[in-house]
Amino acid sequence: MSNPSRRSPRPRTLTESAFIPRIKCPHCGNDLEFFEVSEDAVVVTHYVQNPDSSFSIEDRSIQSTGESRLFCGSCEEDLSELHQRFSNMIF
Ligand SMILES: [Zn+2]
Repeated sequence: MSNPSRRSPRPRTLTESAFIPRIKCPHCGNDLEFFEVSEDAVVVTHYVQNPDSSFSIEDRSIQSTGESRLFCGSCEEDLSELHQRFSNMIF
């Protein structure tokens, strides 16, 4: 049963929201650029055929069925131990 006496929730302020530290390369200190390498990626490309029988790319999606690894975009250090955190922060 839900609590009927529940009052409106306290408004969340910016300072109150959880502070999430930036992911930072422990090797070179880079916290700006990163790249991800996905193994066993399946690339699906949708095409539309034009009146002149040529094709145009409509949409492309990449699905990785394998492991993904994270690297520092500056020194290329393997940061895969931070990958889970990284994945949760992609919006
Ligand atoms: Zn680095």
